[in-house]
Amino acid sequence: MGYNEEYQAARENPEAYWAEQANRIDWFTKPETILEKTANGTYSWYADGELNSCYLALDRHLEDRGDQVALYYDSPATDSKQQITYKELHERVALYAGGLKRLGIEKGDTVVIYMPMIPEAAVAMLACARLGAVHSVVFGGFAPNELAIRIDDAKPKLILTASCGIEFEKKIAYKPLVDKAIDLATHKPDHTIVCQRSVLQAEMTEGRDLDWYEFQQGAEPADCVPVKGNDPLYILYTSGTTGAPKGIVRDNGGHAVALNYALHNVYGMNAGDVWWGASDIGWVVGHSFIVYGPLMGGCSAIFFEGKPIRNPDAGTFWRVIDEYGVNSMFCAPTAFRAIRKEDPEGELSKKYDLSSLNWVFVAGEKLDSSTYHWLDELLQVPVIDHWWQTETGWPMTAPMMGWDSPSAARLGSTNKPIPGYDIQVVDGDGQPVEANEAGNIVVTLPMPPGVAWDIWNQPQRFTDSYLTAFPGYYHTGDGGFKDEDGYVYITGRTDDVINVSGHRLSTGEMEEVVSSHAAVAECAVIGVNDSLKGQIPVGLIVLKAGEEVDEKELEAELVQMVRDQVGALACFRRAVVVQRLPKTRSGKILRAILRKIAANEEYKMPSTIDDESILGEITDMMEQAGMIPA
Ligand code: AMP
Repeated sequence: MGYNEEYQAARENPEAYWAEQANRIDWFTKPETILEKTANGTYSWYADGELNSCYLALDRHLEDRGDQVALYYDSPATDSKQQITYKELHERVALYAGGLKRLGIEKGDTVVIYMPMIPEAAVAMLACARLGAVHSVVFGGFAPNELAIRIDDAKPKLILTASCGIEFEKKIAYKPLVDKAIDLATHKPDHTIVCQRSVLQAEMTEGRDLDWYEFQQGAEPADCVPVKGNDPLYILYTSGTTGAPKGIVRDNGGHAVALNYALHNVYGMNAGDVWWGASDIGWVVGHSFIVYGPLMGGCSAIFFEGKPIRNPDAGTFWRVIDEYGVNSMFCAPTAFRAIRKEDPEGELSKKYDLSSLNWVFVAGEKLDSSTYHWLDELLQVPVIDHWWQTETGWPMTAPMMGWDSPSAARLGSTNKPIPGYDIQVVDGDGQPVEANEAGNIVVTLPMPPGVAWDIWNQPQRFTDSYLTAFPGYYHTGDGGFKDEDGYVYITGRTDDVINVSGHRLSTGEMEEVVSSHAAVAECAVIGVNDSLKGQIPVGLIVLKAGEEVDEKELEAELVQMVRDQVGALACFRRAVVVQRLPKTRSGKILRAILRKIAANEEYKMPSTIDDESILGEITDMMEQAGMIPA
């Protein structure tokens, strides 16, 4: 098997290629229809196949690997560990699903999961999948307002949560956040099911709130409900360019085929191997490569609740690799930057045996060359940068493992397109550009299985967001270029999405909060480079005429507002008062130019600019505020 042959085969006959890949997973009914184009220009894979994602992750392994560890729960944050075998996890999930069923949860119902990294969270996801219910995991760092927006959109029958999460050494009480979100939301779920953690007990509301373990007592373990290949498995909200998050919808069939393919061919994992996706179930990586992917592949997956530089120190990652014999791990570069900051020489790694490790995969944000070199030298294993998004659910570029001709890494590149992804770089008019020329990164339609084709309740928004700007292509929202050998280089977003510690956030959402302050006439929130977090948001504020405020006080108020309404994960810590913002003649703020100024990149004077002199003025102010790198 060679990369070129595989790539060509997928390109020339996607149906045949992905029909063959579909044979590698277990279906209750094999699909006859492989790929279909829908009326609104999207696609669906394996529409008439029948399967169950929980069956693939658990039941299917009972005979061969029932006693193998499915999840290693490791929580330095609470000083606890658990080893859960496939058999045990299956029992827990079937019973929990039985409890949900008794509460009336059926195929197609939605359930919101707002939980920390405890095994119950994986049980919850898999139990929903078992019943054909659609889960929507919301990252525990989101504030009640953000959770409420997602509750109103997903309209869940239930919310599954825990009494608290742990952020560094601090307990964050989740239950009051969920209560507040339910108060704020128009839609009211029937029940909240609460996992009481020993470190903090939540107060319960009689009738509405149910205890995690009591509610399932005496329930009949539930069987797997067959679902169609293109039935939804989950909704995962991600930041778009406008304020409202987008509920990305993942199907069951394409997802299972793609994860199986990626686990073996991208990550080089086989059944029995130990895999560590060092992320959180609140993000797409957590769905694909903490829970579903490794379990479907029969691996033992690490379920880690902690921080890379704490409990007790920046050697935590190395300790986990040693303790469980991790064969391969995945992480955002920001975690390694944090470790390096604490332990620049990597001294702590020397205490551990890291010989089990074959590869380190990084994605989610740009891998800077200095972090790459540091890791490469320290670990002496290939450090592999690869690129994907919430929407795709699995990687679009990566070297392929175990094939005759894996593509060697090139510094700065996220490698070559994976079979199924025909990645092009086009100019603003949708015309392909030359090699090494920067442009918009797009993917020729149709895209391979696993990629989302819908936004929950808003199919038209999917088309508008992804398929309209460049007809015939999926618009990734990323900018970059390809070199003459087809290696892809991602330079960053071309829209108002920023990437803070590998977390994707909408500046529009933050602008909505900032502009609601009484003293603010208008504002632009832009991402500026940060050596640790990749990017951090900074607000440029224009005050209402006649407002006299202490700028430091205003900044503190705005910081608190964003923290309360978006969440601490936004890392919004700076707001700078400016006289005016650059705009087009029609009054639109030129955010793209502001981004370029902040990144110290060259820009062309836009022909539509209202007043050119503002750019010099704003550059000076941003320089004075220390927002522009040298
Ligand atoms: P998310 O949907 O939260 O996974 O974020 C996806 C975005 O993260 C992409 O659109 C890119 O902007 C960025 N991203 C992901 N992987 C990489 C990578 N390897 N290098 C640079 N940027 C990346």
